Amino acid sequence: MTFVIGIDVGGTHLRAALVDRKGMVSCSRKTLVGSNRGPEEIVSLVGKQISSIEKEAGTMAQAVGVGLPGIVSEAKGIVYASPHYPEWKNVDFQQRLEQKLNRPVVIDNDANMIALGEHWLGSAREWGDFLMMTLGTGIGGAIVINSAVYRGIQGFAGEFGHMVLSPEGPECACGSRGCFETFVSATALNRMVREAVADAEIPGSMDLVSLLEEDPSILSGRLVDEAKKGNEAAGGILKQMGYYLGIGLGSLFNVTGINRVVLGGGLIFSADFWLPTAREELKRRTYAETDSHAELRLSQLGDSAGILGAATNAFSKASSRA
Ligand SMILES: [Zn+2]
Repeated sequence: MTFVIGIDVGGTHLRAALVDRKGMVSCSRKTLVGSNRGPEEIVSLVGKQISSIEKEAGTMAQAVGVGLPGIVSEAKGIVYASPHYPEWKNVDFQQRLEQKLNRPVVIDNDANMIALGEHWLGSAREWGDFLMMTLGTGIGGAIVINSAVYRGIQGFAGEFGHMVLSPEGPECACGSRGCFETFVSATALNRMVREAVADAEIPGSMDLVSLLEEDPSILSGRLVDEAKKGNEAAGGILKQMGYYLGIGLGSLFNVTGINRVVLGGGLIFSADFWLPTAREELKRRTYAETDSHAELRLSQLGDSAGILGAATNAFSKASSRA
């Protein structure tokens, strides 16, 4: 197998590219997933991107790897559910895509693919065991042990975002309350901004009113702009997120014994404003032996991690399906 296509389906965008055995990426595509988000539309969108890539490249990829958001059974090729795509219920994406594309397709959870990408060519290259955590609209998670994704009994391990930090905390999209991602995500930042604006006593909180209408994907950047101007409310919100991140990471490190994490996703661009607080809190929540060897790294690959992970997954697994 010389070339595969790696695809990363996110909540708003679909990314795709041709990838060779060494991880060279070419003919990259990034397209918005429109308002029609049913399985048929996604399969059709994937087909269009692949045709366009292969036309430009003048070659055909032998297999396709796809990372999809949600509860995915890699073994069965099925997406059971996805918070960003309510219409997806028990969708046999692998079979549908194989019929459409006429070649082997490997599907998996998007955070698992990002972890494999970082392990192949990014921040976790020399790590056999590590945790991957993506901070965006919610939290994506993956556990890598002996250089392979640990899946648990049914295949959905690594849902860090729904680890409960506060039983009576804010409502979560999953139906529970006080989940990790209700404190650490763009959605959490949006809630904290709303709460700050409602409390005029917090210095600078009234200057955050305009941020309420902000797209969640750029909210952390806007908070950083405000914090740099000396707005205490904005700085406080970012620190509060760091506080909860430290607590969550501490629990994960204590339970798994894996005290290495790669942090990815859109929020890492504001890391200077929350990572120091996370590290401080982590120290309070773990044994000194765990904390002194803990390593927190930021993603090196950014948006390409998911494509590269899906590609390496296709190289290693698709040949058995050919
Ligand atoms: Zn939840």
